[in-house]
Amino acid sequence: MNVLEQFDQERVFYFFEEITKIPHGSGNEKALSDYLVAFAKERNLYYIQDEAYNVCIKKNGALGCENGKTVILQGHIDMVCEKNSDVIHDFIKEPLDIYVENGFIHARGTTLGADNGIAVAYMLALLDSNTIPHPPLEGVFTVDEEVGMKGAFQLDTSILEGKWFLNMDTEEEGVLLSGCAGVEEHVWICLWFVCQMRGRVTKFLFVA
Ligand SMILES: [Zn+2]
Repeated sequence: MNVLEQFDQERVFYFFEEITKIPHGSGNEKALSDYLVAFAKERNLYYIQDEAYNVCIKKNGALGCENGKTVILQGHIDMVCEKNSDVIHDFIKEPLDIYVENGFIHARGTTLGADNGIAVAYMLALLDSNTIPHPPLEGVFTVDEEVGMKGAFQLDTSILEGKWFLNMDTEEEGVLLSGCAGVEEHVWICLWFVCQMRGRVTKFLFVA
């Protein structure tokens, strides 16, 4: 039985646990990149893996959303590798040793890689699902974000068709930041609102 089976919603934590089994520190992402390629092949999804080991996986819209606008989802596949001084762990070869305590997921003596593994897990769950309605998706998995966003800089964006882009790497739980750094004139409008998601109140901050 997987450690995180108790949490599973739409296989998000199944994929998160899979990711923890594959070492993926910055500069060591080939194995996880290859896992993504195998994932796409198994599901007959269109994919591109570039020389930097960035991966893009495309999936048609489903369940009534076939004609929706394409949405790009993006997260990075590298993690920060830190450990306690009394722990022996080889981040190049060894899987993380995860466990659950008081409803929180931990890794014994090391970083967990939730940044940005949880984004990768959400993207895989969406790309895997046959039951979640969604528009056409382009999942973009980049490498080496933690060491200067090298993967994102090497990504050939001409492979992307979508105009809507959701980066899934943020700091605060429950906060959604909307913005764009690529415009000369910028009007800032901040709006807080509260909504229900899966029975739980979530607070969003929109900045546009
Ligand atoms: Zn991150």
